[in-house]
Amino acid sequence: MDLKSGYPFWAVKNGLMAAFPPLQTDIKCDVAVIGGGITGALIADELTSHHFDVVVIEQRDVGWGSTAASTALLQYEIDTHLVDLTKRYGEEAAVLAYRGCATAITELHDLAAEVCDVDFAMQQSLYYASRWRDKSSLRDEFVLRTKHGFKADWLDADAVKDRYAVAAPCAILTHLAARIDPYRMAYRLLARVVHRGGQVYDRTEVKSIDATPPGVTLHTTDDMKIRCRHVVMAAGYANQKWLKQPVAKNRSSYSFITDPIEESALGALASTMVWESARPYLYMRSTGDGRLLVGGEDDNVDIPARRDRRVEKKANKLTAQVGRLFPHLALQPAFSWGGTFAETADGLPFFGPHSEYGPSVLFAMAYGGNGITYSMIGADLLRAGIEGRIHPLAELFSFKRIG
Ligand SMILES: Cc1cc2nc3c(=O)[nH]c(=O)nc-3n(C[C@H](O)[C@H](O)[C@H](O)COP(=O)(O)OP(=O)(O)OC[C@H]3O[C@@H](n4cnc5c(N)ncnc54)[C@H](O)[C@@H]3O)c2cc1C
Repeated sequence: MDLKSGYPFWAVKNGLMAAFPPLQTDIKCDVAVIGGGITGALIADELTSHHFDVVVIEQRDVGWGSTAASTALLQYEIDTHLVDLTKRYGEEAAVLAYRGCATAITELHDLAAEVCDVDFAMQQSLYYASRWRDKSSLRDEFVLRTKHGFKADWLDADAVKDRYAVAAPCAILTHLAARIDPYRMAYRLLARVVHRGGQVYDRTEVKSIDATPPGVTLHTTDDMKIRCRHVVMAAGYANQKWLKQPVAKNRSSYSFITDPIEESALGALASTMVWESARPYLYMRSTGDGRLLVGGEDDNVDIPARRDRRVEKKANKLTAQVGRLFPHLALQPAFSWGGTFAETADGLPFFGPHSEYGPSVLFAMAYGGNGITYSMIGADLLRAGIEGRIHPLAELFSFKRIG
């Protein structure tokens, strides 16, 4: 599956950071992880840090799936408002999901500090009302969040204008958010996995899974076998093809990045990511070298060639939208690209076994706009499952919620 068009910024910026060998012999391990993106890397890192014997299998080069196309805003505020999640699953479960995402940001901060040099920075997040009619739902959201201890400020129209030069009816300013280079992070984590004795193979495609107890056998297209006690399916949006049950819808998102901008012109955008209440939303954040990364214009296109034909037009639209929001910024896209992402009906991910395979095959579907934060939670959740413990979010993030 082609998950991005052209050369997304992270791959261009970093190049091929390391090459791993292809698998050329049959092997055994505790846990095989299919997929060398940010999800597979976080999970493999978590498992090797707890002394599991782990093998990661990637069909292309590491990080070249949606990880290389991600805009990588790390937020606990997911695409579904806490208020709406509460209506679906009750306040306790909804707050648990939001808390899990908040903790994940802190965990990602700590991991980034350990592996170093992954362009991680803590940020604030400004969520502004796109229309006057969104004001009351934003207010309800703010009230519920602060009731549960999520630190945020309410900004009225004057405050948004004064502090961010944005003309909006109101906004929620959140103090816990971050940004990262997800491609670099994936490579750094997988290097640590290898350093701890784990094995990473790239250019190795898994073509079939035999989950007959007591273990699982994976077959590669080169006819190698991997025998393991558990397999983690961290194959990104390709995970859906291993399930008969449709669990998510593929969509396309479009992004561009500028050349570095003067710090004085970037202003508050250097430390604050911005997004809005309209759906699909416009979103943006800076990078460590002072570029502005802008995304949005999501659509239902699921055919890479059709998506790629739209990139230039979408980038022009995004440029115009940012120009209207920040007229003082004369933006010029340096790179633009489109990427496939998947959306679940409630905005939550799926982690854990599916009845089509049984308990030894664990899915890691970090779908939605907060995929990377979800992957961090998933690493902890799946390790708990493998160790026979119950994670507090296991039930909510399981396939049981869709029957
Ligand atoms: C444009 C865009 C913007 C985004 N913005 C954000 C954001 O701001 N914040 C956020 O948190 N998330 C964001 N996301 C989502 C986030 O990027 C994803 O959740 C994340 O990249 C998923 O990582 P992954 O490792 O699960 O998938 P991938 O990076 O796609 O990795 C899966 C890997 O599995 C490999 N694979 C598949 N099948 C096989 C097989 N049979 N054998 C071997 N290997 C296989 C693939 O080659 C691939 O490398 C965005 C996504 C896109 C596309």
